[in-house]
Amino acid sequence: MDIHEYQAKEVLSKFGVLIPQGALAYSPEQAAYRAREMGGERWVVKAQIHAGGRGKAGGVKVCDSDVEIQEATEEMFGKKLVTHQTGPEGKGIYRVYVEAAVPIDREIYLGFVLDRTSQRVMIVASAEGGMEIEEISAERPDSIVRATVEPAVGLQEFQCREIAFKLGIEASMVQQMVRTLQACYRAFTELDATMVEINPLIVTGDNRIMALDAKMTFDDNALFRHPQISELRDKSQEDPRESRAADRGLSYVGLDGNIGCIVNGAGLAMATMDTIKLAGGEPANFLDIGGGATPERVAKAFRLVLSDSNVQAVLVNIFAGINRCDWVAEGVVQALREVEVDVPVIVRLAGTNVEEGQKILAESGLPLIRATTLMEAAERAVEAWQSDSKQRTDVRTV
Ligand code: ADP
Ligand code: MG
Repeated sequence: MDIHEYQAKEVLSKFGVLIPQGALAYSPEQAAYRAREMGGERWVVKAQIHAGGRGKAGGVKVCDSDVEIQEATEEMFGKKLVTHQTGPEGKGIYRVYVEAAVPIDREIYLGFVLDRTSQRVMIVASAEGGMEIEEISAERPDSIVRATVEPAVGLQEFQCREIAFKLGIEASMVQQMVRTLQACYRAFTELDATMVEINPLIVTGDNRIMALDAKMTFDDNALFRHPQISELRDKSQEDPRESRAADRGLSYVGLDGNIGCIVNGAGLAMATMDTIKLAGGEPANFLDIGGGATPERVAKAFRLVLSDSNVQAVLVNIFAGINRCDWVAEGVVQALREVEVDVPVIVRLAGTNVEEGQKILAESGLPLIRATTLMEAAERAVEAWQSDSKQRTDVRTV
């Protein structure tokens, strides 16, 4: 789960990271009021969306008066901001953060990520802050400093000092840098984050080290033990299909194709997507309905997959190991009686009680296309989708 910049700053500041003074606003009037309340002469208004690259896309504006703030935010509210991280559809702006403008001496890149190869938390830093890490690693790979943390002992002071020296932090500020790094590491581990990124981390004109931007991502599987973090979720920033799935306890990722997939098991779901592509089609989603595919879950899955208007065929691929095919078949039949399905449905069942399962499908009288192997199922799905979309075009041309 991602959170907004202002939320990440609040979280990190509780652990000891220094941040500029700032306040949140839900309207242009409130943004102007926030600036007056805060005082000062110069502010930065920042669109709060779950993506970076806002600066270049017009989502970060420096303002010298409350009138300017009102005008700048009127341009932002309700609009979709498209940055290189949002995809072409962009993300809606419903909140802005009004922050005191800070005099910048130096911009540094600082990131904490989970490195799966070493199975460690890795710190990535660069003296070339302000740029995206992808650009830095392409243009100035030598400027990147890396350190991995040994989990048994945690982030050590000597490692922090080494990073500070490599970044060229002045001796008088090294201790501040150590505190900042340790605060981020504690926030990362204590809150089960998978990413903390501060870009830029700045050295101010008056020698303070401050986070000017902040991004945090959390491990969804650990959110249950951090209610104060899970309540920071902002569904307006998520793919509506994915948030609906998460609410229903299903693991779903929306894609751009037309063949909807209902599969039990993440590995099988990946294999199903690959096979659809091999057969010449494009999957509309990844969906793992889990091991215990009860009729209720199957019905929920159908509703979810069919809520995507791009879906022109649905492939159900179930391998029953612990599960039973007859039970899943009953679920499919029940789901299709409850949910109105106007696209071809292809079902492939394998494993425990497969004959009983096939019998239930055959006797249901429902217009299902049955398949034995995964390849056959994928080919049938592609055929069904192609003939269905041909019929649709024919109807349109008539
Ligand atoms: P993004 O990464 O989405 O573009 P940032 O928060 O990093 O957004 O802001 C972009 C740039 O705007 C920063 O690199 C910094 O130069 C400037 N900036 C952001 N916040 C402030 C601030 N409070 N004071 C001064 N400059 C700022
Ligand atoms: Mg940034």
